[in-house]
Amino acid sequence: MHRNRHAQTLSKPATLSGRGLHGNLPCTVVLRPAERASGITFLHTPTGIEIPAASEFVGDCSLATSLTKDGVRLQTVEHLLSALMGLGIDHLTIEVDGEELPILDGSAEPWVRLILEAGIRPMAIWPHYMRILKPVEVRRGDKWMRVSPWNGLRLAYTIVYDNPFIGRQTREMTLTTEKYTRELGLARTFCLESDIEFMRSRGLAKGGSLDNAVVFGANGPLNESLRYEDEAVRHKMMDLVGDLALLGASLEGFVEAHCAGHALHVELAKAILADPTAWTWAESEIGARPRKLFPQGLPAAHPIPA
Ligand SMILES: [Zn+2]
Repeated sequence: MHRNRHAQTLSKPATLSGRGLHGNLPCTVVLRPAERASGITFLHTPTGIEIPAASEFVGDCSLATSLTKDGVRLQTVEHLLSALMGLGIDHLTIEVDGEELPILDGSAEPWVRLILEAGIRPMAIWPHYMRILKPVEVRRGDKWMRVSPWNGLRLAYTIVYDNPFIGRQTREMTLTTEKYTRELGLARTFCLESDIEFMRSRGLAKGGSLDNAVVFGANGPLNESLRYEDEAVRHKMMDLVGDLALLGASLEGFVEAHCAGHALHVELAKAILADPTAWTWAESEIGARPRKLFPQGLPAAHPIPA
């Protein structure tokens, strides 16, 4: 997906505030350009604790993806991570003053706009890619995911819902920045009307409304309109792009997902990292040999090329 470019960060800091979907608490996010190859790292400003966007720090991910370290838990990180991956941002510090990132309109689009307004700056280093060498599969009952070798990043996603207005949706695409922005970034989070009471009874979705989620009722979406006919599966693909950021580097492979969700996305990322024979580092197609990248979170079986 990002093979012919330098590693990238933002041109200048960018700030966005909003409320979390589940806790409905205010949170301000400042995206700070990286000066070195730091990967994507969250900084919880009230405690000063840094949490790298890496699968080893993933906490609960039943409804959204959360990262936890040293008693700090950051919830709903996936839409921002998705926008960063979709636009090819490799290195960035994300300052947050709360524990749940703003839900905004339920899509990655406000993050995409923020990043594009700040500008994307190439760094004097080359990105690395994790190139898949052989299939890796994870399965939980009839839910499964598989990654296999591919030149670039290709995604295929299928969801099956009881609600006839979602039903079975399948989409497959080779990801580019343009495709991400046009076809995935705008897709909003969704739920079934019948799930809302259950979530509220558990103290969740306190900030949920038709302004930040598509709600499918028995007679169709309660929102005025959908952004795409298959907005639901596109949102799942957008989520997947964000969860794949937890690998710590861009992926080169064909990722298939069947009725998956955050937990299985993360399980696949962990299964890839756990099998050093399943992947290798690939370098950018341009430029000289890369310098050191991704100092944190790399398995010893794959030392960084000097
Ligand atoms: Zn989502």
